Amino acid sequence: MTKNCIICKKDNNLKFIDNYKFEVESDLDFFGNLKIYECKDCKIYFANPLPEPEKLNSFYSDIYRAPGRPHNHEYNMGEENLEDDRFLNYLSYLTTFIDFNKINNIFDFGAGIGDLGYLIKKNFQHINLHCCENDKFSLEILKRRGYQNYSSLEKINKKFDLIISLHTIEHLTSLDPVFELKTKLVSGGYFFFEVPNCPFDKSFINRPYDSPHIIFFTKESWHNISKLLELNLVDLTYASYSLDEAFKAMSESKDRFKYWKKDRLTFRDKLRKIIPPFILKLRRKIIQFNKKKNFNRSKNFINNNENSWCIRGILKNEN
Ligand SMILES: [Zn+2]
Repeated sequence: MTKNCIICKKDNNLKFIDNYKFEVESDLDFFGNLKIYECKDCKIYFANPLPEPEKLNSFYSDIYRAPGRPHNHEYNMGEENLEDDRFLNYLSYLTTFIDFNKINNIFDFGAGIGDLGYLIKKNFQHINLHCCENDKFSLEILKRRGYQNYSSLEKINKKFDLIISLHTIEHLTSLDPVFELKTKLVSGGYFFFEVPNCPFDKSFINRPYDSPHIIFFTKESWHNISKLLELNLVDLTYASYSLDEAFKAMSESKDRFKYWKKDRLTFRDKLRKIIPPFILKLRRKIIQFNKKKNFNRSKNFINNNENSWCIRGILKNEN
């Protein structure tokens, strides 16, 4: 158990908030028995003790996207994702603050299949896309979409006009990679992020689970982080559907995946082995359709409302 904040590194300012909650119970083998603490100075929350790096690495390479789990590619929304209102909302937000005619190189931190960068490039074709992704499934799509991939952050030898990071920073065990990325911004460059909104002092205390997130943010956290990063806050706001809706979806997901165990085939997995692939593909389309219908439509967006599930912001390097 650390006594030091993972951001400001000061000790004796930590306050116990709650026990860590898992979506998939067997993940405890990788994460350990965690608690959540707040740094009262940074207004940031994090899992404590931090999971061991080797265990966390093997979790993301062998477990996170394993068959029968929430982040298996079968449940992802596929390459049509960027037609969702959610992505159009990102695009209209970003173009409000950033002149993309002056943006030449974008780095996508935690790219996944790189939806947002690809959508931006569709609208501003002069832009070059870069990423650092090691998931094999995602890499194939990223290459097809014109991303240049780096094997590690240290291997990057150029600077970017815009760094984007959607739902990645909450998975880190420290903000060191974000500080490293900051050094790769050109003067006048932007950093756009979105992370979950986690007001533990309000309704977030009733969340169904935490896993596999490690760091939990509020708007206040980002006021402090931008100061530490020495970046100017261009905009900081709430976005996405409500926490109540997020909790409902999380509860349903937890009911479904709670008892997943590695190498144990569920009834669903056994069925999958005997059903012809085209039926599975059709089923996937229906799941995606319903997911889109329920979630990523603009009617569910409540931008700039503190009861939103997400925080997003744009920081600028004025140096
Ligand atoms: Zn702190």
